[in-house]
Amino acid sequence: MKKILAIHTGGTISMSQNDQGEIVPNAQNPIAQQATILDGQVQLITDELFNLPSPHVTPVQMLAIKQRIVRAIADGIDGVVITHGTDTLEETAYFLDLTLPDTIPVVVTGAMRSSNEVGSDGLHNFQSAIQVAAADVSRGQGVMVVMNDEIHTARYVTKTHTTNVATFRTPTFGPIGLVVKDHPTYFQQLIRQEFCDIDHVVGHVYLLKAFAGMDGTLFDALNNDQTAGLVIEGLGAGNLPPQTLPAVQRLLDRKIPIVLVSRCYNGVAEDIYDYQGGGIELRKMGLMLCQGLNGQKARIKLLVGLSAGLPNDALREFLKTAVS
Ligand code: ASP
Repeated sequence: MKKILAIHTGGTISMSQNDQGEIVPNAQNPIAQQATILDGQVQLITDELFNLPSPHVTPVQMLAIKQRIVRAIADGIDGVVITHGTDTLEETAYFLDLTLPDTIPVVVTGAMRSSNEVGSDGLHNFQSAIQVAAADVSRGQGVMVVMNDEIHTARYVTKTHTTNVATFRTPTFGPIGLVVKDHPTYFQQLIRQEFCDIDHVVGHVYLLKAFAGMDGTLFDALNNDQTAGLVIEGLGAGNLPPQTLPAVQRLLDRKIPIVLVSRCYNGVAEDIYDYQGGGIELRKMGLMLCQGLNGQKARIKLLVGLSAGLPNDALREFLKTAVS
């Protein structure tokens, strides 16, 4: 029988609705009480690592989850399920995808409706996630996010709706598989897995979103000794308003690595446009283009690369996500 570790970390899946209709954390995590789910089919080991709403989760907690999984792999676990708040679930999932060796299935799940709401999705998602983690066919797929009967890669999935149970989507590429009743079925596979081991996390890695008429004010606010890195969600294919350029150059002069992604929901950032502030000029200035990742994922990737101490060229190579 497969041995599956369930790591509970909090989020709506662990919360309940009170008499006023507010969603509140519980002292006792109700999903952790479901340790007998799938009894006789898997051996479930439960670890309540922490109990936080996911806006309270930082890279420090992400590293703690990673370290817990590394210990479990050494102890011979067959698969891992992590329950997590959905607000930052995609960031934790991608952090784990980058920092864990791809040896056993690791699945992250959560819920959009708390444990005692009508139509609560928590227990169902938890069960599907265990079924995916326990399946042989799930090996080698990277860290996965299983919600609402769909299997998504940690790398490309994103939360797209504030409350709908079908919130997790993979723009441009789609889910890699489905959970059909009690088993996973895969239709796609990532073409390249990445692994970057780290034992600490750096701070002060920032994310800014470009907008029409943006100037250098926000960039200049980061022009200090603490800033370790910056991701910019650029316009369209990866362009910036020209008024931002002097301040962006001042950050580059300080040797602060700057990564460029697109603020568009679909597509990839590319250096296509040759006008002031266009992607071609930004690349020549030294910005690193990161294709296919959204801003929050690119920030995690930059943070992991910096935490690993990658020198500039290696960091640039690491941040390229597509193979071309
Ligand atoms: N605000 C909640 C959280 O991320 C949302 C959820 O879990 O669905 O903790």
